[in-house]
Amino acid sequence: MFRKFLAATMLCSIIFTSTAVTAAAQTTDSVQKTGTTTVSTGSAIAATGSSVAVTGSAVVTTGSSVVTTGPSVVYAKVKLKKKSIKLYPEETYRLSVKWGKGKHSKLTWSSSNTRIVKVSKHGNVRALYPGKAKVTVKTASGSKATATVTVKKPDMSKAVYLTFDDGPGTKITPKLLSILKKYNVKATFFIVGSQAKGHEALLRRIVKDGHTLAIHTYTHDYRKIYSSSKAYLEDFNKTEKLIKDATGVQPRYFRFPGGGNNHYMSSKIRSEVLKELHARGYTEMDWNATTGDAAPTYYSADKLISNGKNSHWGRGSVVMLQHDSNAKYRTPAVTEALIKYYKSKGCTFYGLDQYYGDELCFKK
Ligand SMILES: [Zn+2]
Repeated sequence: MFRKFLAATMLCSIIFTSTAVTAAAQTTDSVQKTGTTTVSTGSAIAATGSSVAVTGSAVVTTGSSVVTTGPSVVYAKVKLKKKSIKLYPEETYRLSVKWGKGKHSKLTWSSSNTRIVKVSKHGNVRALYPGKAKVTVKTASGSKATATVTVKKPDMSKAVYLTFDDGPGTKITPKLLSILKKYNVKATFFIVGSQAKGHEALLRRIVKDGHTLAIHTYTHDYRKIYSSSKAYLEDFNKTEKLIKDATGVQPRYFRFPGGGNNHYMSSKIRSEVLKELHARGYTEMDWNATTGDAAPTYYSADKLISNGKNSHWGRGSVVMLQHDSNAKYRTPAVTEALIKYYKSKGCTFYGLDQYYGDELCFKK
């Protein structure tokens, strides 16, 4: 009776050990202990002993998924010291790992959404755009850990985005860049490729000064670009290539010549172009304020400045349209006056690389 009970108890304990070992992939030590106990209980449980042998081999198999180079090497599991972090766009954070017992192996890092967060091969997280993403670190031996990165939306109610179309103008853009540098102001240039051709150094200067390059087609020829979506995109692609070849920058914003609601462009062409460019990661950007410097009407510098101060018609941060083609000789001085005005109102200037609002389209 007692032996029967003992046998039953041992069987239970062995089965239990077997389950626990298999599930948790315990070390070789606990397996040896199980074997020893069984052997000492005698012939009554010889059958049990054989089941232990099976258990033992099962454990070794389980062990092999942890031990890759031999039974004596155990690779460490990895954890992250922080499981969630919150950052503003442009902020960075170094995620540190915590190793378990065992040998360290090579780490690789990845982000679930590289538009929101990027991570370097050393675990340096860079916040780019409001939203949530997961950053995962994996070891070469198969262990992994994840942290949630929340990128907070900054208060951009006092943000001003100066944008300049139709350039670069070799006479105007260098003067404009000097003014922007003097006040440490960032802006955005919607490039006409045919104007930039041969003046690629100017594009590089724009990038070096920390401004944003965006696309405004190659020819700016309404009849040509708005004849079909294919024609528009071919023209567009030439400017994209020119910018990328000259600077290495992949632009993310574009502006239709004449704005997104001009009567040269049919709704069909517009929707076909938008579908393609959205798929390629572009955002359309019209404007919600302007000095009126595109108007055929002759405006004095004072009138342009007062337009620039008063024309913002809402829809988020100020996105100001001006032009820096060679004919627009007033632009540098008008821009300087507007910088002083908006700074006196407590505003900060950014390039569209730091724009966190909605796509700005005259026509949805
Ligand atoms: Zn234009």
